[in-house]
Amino acid sequence: MPQIKDHYLARAMKKILDPSRVIEDDLERTIYSCDSSFLSAQSRYLPDIVLLPRSTREVSEIMIFAFENSIPVTPRGAGSGETCGCVPAKGGIVMDLSTWNTVEEVDAQNMQAMVRPGVVHSRLNEHLGRFGLFFPPDPGSTRMCTIGGMVANNSSGMRAVKYGTTEQYILGLEVVLPSGEIIITGGKNCRSLKNVSGINLTKLFVGSEGTLGVITQIRLRVWPRPRARGIAMASFDKLEQAPVAVLDVYKAGILPSGIEILDQSAIRAINLYRPEINLPSCEAILLFEVDGNPASVHWEGEQIAEIMRKQPARVEWSTDPQRMAALWQGRSVVAAAAARLRPDGTRVFAGEDICIPLNKVAESLRIIKSLGEEYQIQVVAYGHIGDGNIHTALVINPDNPDEVDRLGKLVDKIHRLAIDLGGTTTGEHGVGMVRSAYSLLEHGNTLEQMRIVKTALDPKGIMNPGKIY
Ligand SMILES: Cc1cc2nc3c(=O)[nH]c(=O)nc-3n(C[C@H](O)[C@H](O)[C@H](O)COP(=O)(O)OP(=O)(O)OC[C@H]3O[C@@H](n4cnc5c(N)ncnc54)[C@H](O)[C@@H]3O)c2cc1C
Repeated sequence: MPQIKDHYLARAMKKILDPSRVIEDDLERTIYSCDSSFLSAQSRYLPDIVLLPRSTREVSEIMIFAFENSIPVTPRGAGSGETCGCVPAKGGIVMDLSTWNTVEEVDAQNMQAMVRPGVVHSRLNEHLGRFGLFFPPDPGSTRMCTIGGMVANNSSGMRAVKYGTTEQYILGLEVVLPSGEIIITGGKNCRSLKNVSGINLTKLFVGSEGTLGVITQIRLRVWPRPRARGIAMASFDKLEQAPVAVLDVYKAGILPSGIEILDQSAIRAINLYRPEINLPSCEAILLFEVDGNPASVHWEGEQIAEIMRKQPARVEWSTDPQRMAALWQGRSVVAAAAARLRPDGTRVFAGEDICIPLNKVAESLRIIKSLGEEYQIQVVAYGHIGDGNIHTALVINPDNPDEVDRLGKLVDKIHRLAIDLGGTTTGEHGVGMVRSAYSLLEHGNTLEQMRIVKTALDPKGIMNPGKIY
């Protein structure tokens, strides 16, 4: 693509933004052609220009120009997404919001905060910690991802089993529509924690993956920080025991803040990568995290240990920070262990995020194992079993075309398996480009209604084209 210096688009944008926040350079634009997905590493979708706005007025003026000239606009946070969501499928403008990163207000009296889209998740929680508060959704990418990206993808993490996903914490949004119009959802001047007035447009924008507008401010709900935490680790000879044990914990009236599974493939990968962790050789390990006040954490930890012993499983639980870190160590290195499983290959992010009904988790893991054998691709499976969200780390040599071809076939099988078992192709990471081929299969004629909503808000189709629909 030729250098676009002094192109009409660049000239127009420099009238809206300080020229230092208008990126035309070839090399710098290349950085914006990918995110963390394997698909974006294979193909290059170069933006014509990258803009770094830092006010709602600037975003609105950019959108007015883009709308009038029918130029595609792709919003971007940190680019940690796994779906090509922030990658400009049709070129045009990439709007990088990561430098617009101020916490505007912590309204501790009303248990909420106002932030700009580029605030990094871990930074927000550090900031809220000073007030004894936190923002519960907890993606593994906490040190990278922005709150704008989390809202756009409705992100969540290990603690979704107790605390839910981002959508449950978004009270209102300021959004710049494709036409440049600025709207505020959740009530123009509202600071209440509940609001059922009107159609809930906040929910419409959460999870819309940048296809309906640019999120420029977020009013989010914050929670008091739990005072205590405990970790239990249980190992099972048979994989099928693990989901039963999870259900037994629920039946006992306990809602842990995290329930993670490492299957045999993950246990092996961790022991190879860090032999000193020395996880027991078995078909499945469950890790429970409980949080709350010290008395309840103690009671819940004891109960979980007792339930696990009945399975029977070997179990240990602790509230000692050092011991908890040791118990959790395997889970915390599993992604790195998968990435280093073979010297000539790495873990790629493709088919990595299915979510399965709880009663089908063991069955799905067995099928995925045999699919891996069929396509001769190593699969390391782990994830948030508490809500059925399985992360399958697929390990290949990305430079080997035959392996890449087999990977594509395996990913397709995994996605279709999830839908066949009554689950979804994505529990956390979203659709973007990589899973849009399954939208019709997942949603049927409801997809058409999504398209109608999209067209109503974005009649020219300039907002993040080539995604979801
Ligand atoms: C190591 C690793 C671990 C991860 N773990 C998790 C996890 O546990 N849970 C999870 O949910 N995800 C996880 N992810 C995926 C990713 O981090 C999340 O989807 C995250 O929310 C993306 O945020 P981002 O700022 O990087 O957004 P980007 O990747 O830049 O963009 C993601 C989407 O949001 C849109 N977007 C971004 N900002 C805006 C805005 N201001 N307005 C409108 N649209 C916008 C983009 O157009 C794109 O469609 C992980 C990723 C990595 C690399």
